[in-house]
Amino acid sequence: MSPWIGLALFLATLAGMELFAWAMHRWVMHGPGWFLHESHHRARTGWFEWNDLYAVIFAVPSIILIYGGVQAGWWPGSTWIGAGIAGYGAIYFGFHDVIVHQRVRHRYVPRSRYMKRIVQAHRLHHAVESKQGAVSFGFLWAAPADELKRQLKARGSSARIRTNPD
Ligand SMILES: [Zn+2]
Ligand SMILES: [Zn+2]
Repeated sequence: MSPWIGLALFLATLAGMELFAWAMHRWVMHGPGWFLHESHHRARTGWFEWNDLYAVIFAVPSIILIYGGVQAGWWPGSTWIGAGIAGYGAIYFGFHDVIVHQRVRHRYVPRSRYMKRIVQAHRLHHAVESKQGAVSFGFLWAAPADELKRQLKARGSSARIRTNPD
């Protein structure tokens, strides 16, 4: 397989994963999977929270696809797709767990308009601590803060809007 086709598959998977993550977060994690995700909308007490299990679950297809492509003689594109899922996981971890939630201490301050926008959008997601009523379920793509605040108001969310990291 041409590396260019592989690269295209990798990039398409990264983009597709943002859509998939949005749908999972909106309909599963704030739906029947809330019992695990709830831990992420509360203050964390130790190193881990139940919500971390989602990262383990999403790593499984990535590992299987990479293994299949490299070792099991599957279509070589499966390796690139598996790598795209893993790449999304790494970007998600860097953005969500490190930059926004500071699970690793750092002094990075978002400066670009894009970074400010996605960081603020995820903080606004955490303004609501319940299963219902939250806004902004994406991670790397987000609506502007003003739009999200308007949505929060429209939902009659009584939650106070916390914009500081938790
Ligand atoms: Zn959530
Ligand atoms: Zn979060």
